[in-house]
Amino acid sequence: MRVTFPHMGMTWVGVKHLLAEVGFDVVVPPPITRATLELGSKHSPEFICLPFKVMIGNYLQAVEAGAEAIFMLGGVGPCRLGYYAEVQREILQDLGLQVRMIVLERDNFVGEIYQAVKSIGKKIAWHKLLPLVRFCLAKVAYLDRLEAQLLRERYGERQAGSCSQLLARAMQLVDQASTWTELKHVQKDIDLHLQHILLPAAAGPALRIGIIGEIYMLIESAVNFGIGERLGELGASVSRNMYGSTWVREHLIPDWRAFFNARRIARHCRPYIGQRVGGHGFESIGYAVEYARRGYDGLVQVLPLTCMPEIIAKSILPTVSRDWQIPILTVTLDEHAGEAGLITRLEAFVDMLLERKNLRAGGKSYAPSFGS
Ligand code: SF4
Repeated sequence: MRVTFPHMGMTWVGVKHLLAEVGFDVVVPPPITRATLELGSKHSPEFICLPFKVMIGNYLQAVEAGAEAIFMLGGVGPCRLGYYAEVQREILQDLGLQVRMIVLERDNFVGEIYQAVKSIGKKIAWHKLLPLVRFCLAKVAYLDRLEAQLLRERYGERQAGSCSQLLARAMQLVDQASTWTELKHVQKDIDLHLQHILLPAAAGPALRIGIIGEIYMLIESAVNFGIGERLGELGASVSRNMYGSTWVREHLIPDWRAFFNARRIARHCRPYIGQRVGGHGFESIGYAVEYARRGYDGLVQVLPLTCMPEIIAKSILPTVSRDWQIPILTVTLDEHAGEAGLITRLEAFVDMLLERKNLRAGGKSYAPSFGS
């Protein structure tokens, strides 16, 4: 059976390896482009959140490339993710596509995969499954660590664009690695290159900016216009609170570090919000406080239009901003958003942060961060 799944940043590298190793023929959807977005938007309800539309675009392009079944995550709680798969299934049926939807619910993740494998007449060797899952997670976790480092240090790249090129190269190599030894070689190779493309970090960044918001919009740079990269190019060291592998550690695999981290973030939320609101609205508040406590200069919240959890977070963030004296820019994106407008807003935000920092340090003059 030829199977596919929606894109979400670089997680495809691990998902592809896992599904191929348990016996499926895998069709990775083409990279997300404007065409994906237009196709998805055309066949989706107008006011559904953007990730839904992009996923429909992914499915249609993958089905065109031969996919017969789709793996999709289920969800619970007061957020639309819980009914994404059901609505998407109906849309595909209405389009007359003979495609099977396999929904992986969080509490029966392995069981659902087992059933799907069984349905194609194959068997999972249980003793191999755990090491396989560990290896797939290690692939994605390495790419996430590399991306996090590049977001933090891109401001010091010797040549514009070299960090993004390195990440793209790493993604290709990690995708090709099929053993732990190969994966370690890739890591060594990439680390070596990294030393050549970054300036020594002696001067430090002009600004430190944290990015918070809805998980899909944070992870999928094809829909957020590479917001982290753009801020790095403007001279900021950027931290993001969410990656694909951290989500897996927090939700699918018991991990003590993730557990204690989540508890700390929940404590930060207490003065502002008493309960979870679905999606990652709660985490957006908690990480806003976390970054403020760590002395960041500003925050950017990224959300898709009509995302309920992030709209709730957005209404609380001005209070966090006032309490912690930290400026917060909210960026709402949908299929009509344009890159030029976003870059202008980011440039203005970075300039405001630089001026504010300069004034707080007692300085008078102010040097623009771009345009030179
Ligand atoms: S978190 Fe927001 S964007 Fe994501 S599925 Fe839920 S409502 Fe949609």
